Amino acid sequence: MRRVRGAGDCRRHHFWWMSPDTRTAPPSTTDASRPRTAIVTGASSGVGLWATKALVQRGWHVIMAVRDTAKAEREATRIGIDLARTTRLHVDLGSLASVRRFVDAFRASGHALDALVCNAAVYLPRLTEPQRSPDGYEISVATNHFGHFVLMTALLPDLERGRDPRLVTLGTVTANSEEFGGRIPIPAPADLGDLAGLEAGFRAPVAMIDGKPFKPGKAYKDSKLCNMITSRELHRRYHASTGIVFATLYPGCVADTALFRDTPPLFRTIFPWFQKHITKGYVTQQLSGERVAQVVADAEFATQSGVHWSWGNRQTPGAKPFAQKLSAKAENQARGERLWELTERLVAVG
Ligand code: NAP
Repeated sequence: MRRVRGAGDCRRHHFWWMSPDTRTAPPSTTDASRPRTAIVTGASSGVGLWATKALVQRGWHVIMAVRDTAKAEREATRIGIDLARTTRLHVDLGSLASVRRFVDAFRASGHALDALVCNAAVYLPRLTEPQRSPDGYEISVATNHFGHFVLMTALLPDLERGRDPRLVTLGTVTANSEEFGGRIPIPAPADLGDLAGLEAGFRAPVAMIDGKPFKPGKAYKDSKLCNMITSRELHRRYHASTGIVFATLYPGCVADTALFRDTPPLFRTIFPWFQKHITKGYVTQQLSGERVAQVVADAEFATQSGVHWSWGNRQTPGAKPFAQKLSAKAENQARGERLWELTERLVAVG
């Protein structure tokens, strides 16, 4: 892979919102015989748990970045993952201080880093009032976007030293208005507006990125749109200078994961059935994990950076991955740059 060191080289870019200790990566081993290592956030459940299994089966070591390490061990054991091929490290992505502590703990573990998988997320569609992170930010955006933003940018220097390094983020169809699933108006499509809520500081009473009244389901979609924009912005800023491949993916509708734990019980019964039999969008947790592992580890996904991978919305046996076009909302470079700048500012004061 071509590597050009330039002005965007992340080792020379001082992320000023980091504490001094988390700015500098220790040297990592280039020993080609060591197993490749991935950090997977939210590896205690659903897509992240099964992605961990698929990576371990490919010979990788997985750092399970989780908020409940005992649960991660239990769940990994339940589905037959060899715990010796994993390390469990605590992180609460909703807390900026916790993310910074995680980076320090990862560095102290002495592992190299070949892939970072930003997978964890909360979806809280039944909130009537915004829930706040310890830093005072609306919890979906704080967890899904801000926490991952700090993690990604802090770990770029470590990743850059990895073998065939990749940074893979879970996107979703419901945040891509280029696709039918992204135009569903319940409660509203993802839309960051003119970023007025972030411009205003994003603390109470502000709860939405566009500065409009709180809609919890939309807050989730907005946070996932931020994930996809951030991946493209990382590609634009750092791919040429670091060689890191940046990608997002939609693994299919994994309708029976705990992501839907806060939806009404009737929804949790009907939704998987509807996705299996009506939309045909349903994907098992195992297949979703396998798809994540492919994007992380397989050679065919290293040939392009800045791509959003999909296997389509109606699942067919043998479906092939393709680069799914994203909406203008995700591809607008000026919007991406401004989202990056405002996020930098907000995670620095958090
Ligand atoms: P899930 O089973 O609920 O998994 C979410 C994971 O995130 C869990 O491990 C959870 O930890 C973790 N998490 C939540 N808050 C956290 C925090 N503050 N700090 C650290 N970890 C935290 O949901 P999933 O369906 O597998 O979702 C995984 C990803 O796939 C998400 O990014 C989602 O947007 C994306 N996705 C899912 C679907 C789908 O249909 N399910 C479709 C497209 C994209 P606990 O185990 O402790 O709860």
